[in-house]
Amino acid sequence: MSKTLFEKICDREIPADIVYEDELCVAFKDIHPQAPLHVQLVPRKPITMLSKADAADQALLGHLLLTAPKIAAAQGYADTFRLAINNGAAVGQSVFHLHLHILAGRPFKWPPG
Ligand code: AMP
Repeated sequence: MSKTLFEKICDREIPADIVYEDELCVAFKDIHPQAPLHVQLVPRKPITMLSKADAADQALLGHLLLTAPKIAAAQGYADTFRLAINNGAAVGQSVFHLHLHILAGRPFKWPPG
């Protein structure tokens, strides 16, 4: 199967502004930022969307949630950020490789539009 866009970024086949990486995940600046901080945090494993993850991914998903605040803090937004996961095209998912949007640096409305 061909690599997803985000796998290619993880493998450095496509350039990106990588702000964090470890053995399980990579984080890079969004190409069309929607806030002063807009980072994509992606698992190296190409899970298409959150609803396709399973019990074998439990530790990985926990790792992503524990890593996101560290990335926000390292970018100057400790304790004040929004995480978003679009799951499915109808709610805005355009890249079918699980990713957590880390957003910060402006007011955010609730509920999200
Ligand atoms: P989603 O719509 O939830 O699937 O989010 C996909 C995100 O990936 C969007 O915010 C895009 O701006 C972002 N994106 C698409 N291509 C790239 C790229 N080459 N580098 C960084 N971010 C990208």
